[in-house]
Formats: sequence, C-alpha cells, structure tokens
Amino acid sequence: MYVEELLRDYELDRLTIATLASHSSLQIVHGAKAEGFRTALVVLRGRYWFYSQFSHLVDRFVVVDSWRELCSERVVEELRKMSSIFVPHGSYVEYVGLDCATSLPLPILGLRSLYRVEADQWAKVALLREAGIPVPKVYRVGESFEGVVIAKLPGAKGGRGYFIAKSPQEVERRVENLVRSGLIKDPSEVLLQEYLVGVTAYFHYFHSPILGRTEILGADIRYESDVDGLRRIPVPISLELGLEPTFTVVGNVPLVLRESLLPEVLELGMRFVRVTQEKLPPGIIGPFCLESVVDRDLGIKVFEFSGRIVAGTNLYIDGSPYSYLYWGEPMSTGRRIARELRLAVERGQLTRVVT
Ligand code: AMP
Repeated sequence: MYVEELLRDYELDRLTIATLASHSSLQIVHGAKAEGFRTALVVLRGRYWFYSQFSHLVDRFVVVDSWRELCSERVVEELRKMSSIFVPHGSYVEYVGLDCATSLPLPILGLRSLYRVEADQWAKVALLREAGIPVPKVYRVGESFEGVVIAKLPGAKGGRGYFIAKSPQEVERRVENLVRSGLIKDPSEVLLQEYLVGVTAYFHYFHSPILGRTEILGADIRYESDVDGLRRIPVPISLELGLEPTFTVVGNVPLVLRESLLPEVLELGMRFVRVTQEKLPPGIIGPFCLESVVDRDLGIKVFEFSGRIVAGTNLYIDGSPYSYLYWGEPMSTGRRIARELRLAVERGQLTRVVT
C-alpha cells in the first residue's frame, strides 16, 4: 500500500504516536508527549492495570486479548481515527507475526520491508556482509566447522534454547532434542555462528532521512541469565554441576565506549544505512541497533542487528552521553522518533519517514 494512501484522511497537525504496550513503549509515549503528540497504546487486557499507572502519558488505551488483534478492523479503525503513526519496537514482529507486521494498514515509522529479512537469520547475516560489516562465520546443522559455535533458534526468543557446542556431532544431538521438545520444527531453522570471544556491545543508532544523517544514540550491554551469572560460581563447581550457559535477557546495563572506537562504530552504522538504501529502498528510517563483540585487539564483529528500537535504549530515557552531544537536551530514542516526526510534519516531508 502506498504511503500517501495510508495517510489519507489524516489530520497532520493532530497526529498520534501509537505502539504496543511492551518492550520500550513507555519510553516511546514519554518521548511522544515531550514533542507534543497524542499517544495511544494497544494493551493486553491483563496488563492494562500496569500501563494505566502511566495514564498521564497515554491519551488512549486500545485493549486487546491477543497481540494479533492489532491487525483487526476494530483496532486499525480506532487507531486510524486518531491519525496514528505506528512505532514498531523490538518485540513487534514476534508479537503480531510477520504477515500482520508487514501488512498493517497504518503508516509505520520505519522500514517495513526489512521485517522479512529480519525473520530469516541467513538473510540477516547476508545483508550485514553485503554492507561490508565484519560478521562471524556461519554454518548450517550438519556442516563441519572448527572451534566453538553458538547455535541460534529463529525469532526473538530472547536467547531461549541457544547453546554453545564444540563439534558438529554435539550440535546434531542437541538439535534433535530441540526438535523433540517442540522448540523448533526442523534442524534447518538453526543458525550456527562462530562463537566470538570478547565483550558484547550493542550500539544504538538513529537514521534521520530529514536531517540526512546517522546518529549514535547510545550503547548497552545485555544482562543475560545464566551467562552473566556463571562467573559468580567457581569454575570447578560449575563444571561439576554441568551448568549450561543460557542467554535469556533479564535487563540492560549502560555502556560508554572508548572515544577512539566511536569513528568505527559510526562507520558501521552508516554502512548499514547504505546497504538498506541500496537493497531495500528507501532504506532504514529511525532507530536500529548493531549487536557486536569487541575483541582484545578492539576488532568489532557484528553478530546480529535490529531494524527497530531496542530495549537497551530504555536506559537513556533522559538522554545518553551521545544524544546529549547532538541535541543538548534530554533526548531518548523514543523522543528522537517523535522529533523526527515533528520535523517531517513541519517541513511537509512526512512521506519520507513512514512506510
Ligand atoms: P542474539 O539472539 O543473536 O541477540 O544472541 C543472544 C546472545 O548470545 C547475545 O546477547 C550474546 O551474549 C550471545 N551471542 C550471540 N551471538 C554470539 C556470537 N557469535 N559469539 C558470542 N556470543 C554470541
């Protein structure tokens, strides 16, 4: 559907910023209010009590019994009536499903054609590689490899079911168990990546079509259970217990980078913007994240990306050390999204920031 059609009947001076009540939604509505927009949250019935604690930030709650109702006529109509621009966050595709996510008949602040790429782990790595961004080696189950790999399941399962293995035989055995337990249907769904040794660092960016620039808005580390907890247990004991490192994200820890890393970090973000502009025009719009491991020689390899706002940005609801440099005022990623929308409306360029 054409953007112009999606914006038909919209009152451009009374736009609403709408999202799903989860992930980074409080940051998004907080930022929207700071920029003078109306706000709407689509909320699960069981969570309404919680989000209504923040009703000063939310003009309209649209209560649903399942996330997939987002694409129902009732919800879409209600949001369209408020001239809603939908802001997708990291959980969006996982919650509503790929078909609803890509075909939602509301203007989306972001690049909806990227969701299909994001749903395919191999396509994701291929896009990064085409961008000239260093990535870990990847293998399929059954292929031989050297060293250690991390096995990844499809979808944003928050690291659930991931495991580390040293041999193709070990991988096959464990993947069979995953199929048996119903976590995956087929071994082909599993992506094996070279296990990168170093520290993890997640870089938050914002690409502004209106200002024609890519900004670094922050960085974080994910706090993952039990990988981050295992170091609290003496190694011989954890070996004895046979504890398996799991990667379930519990929260996020702030990170400020060495300034000497910043040029490379920004360059990687700009490469990502360029590849999306070439392969998926008009290219990425707004927030995205590159997830990396930085090694002892300060080499950066990117093992994953998100084409939407990531939860690590919730750390900087009052602005980050980087967003402050660009804006000189508290500027969260949520507020940056709303600022972009405001600039676009003021300049009569709304169609450049929505798809
Ligand atoms: P992901 O679902 O790709 O975000 O991965 C979940 C977690 O697994 C990350 O936050 C990292 O801690 C870890 N991880 C993912 N890929 C790699 C890799 N190639 N090497 C080392 N650790 C990784």
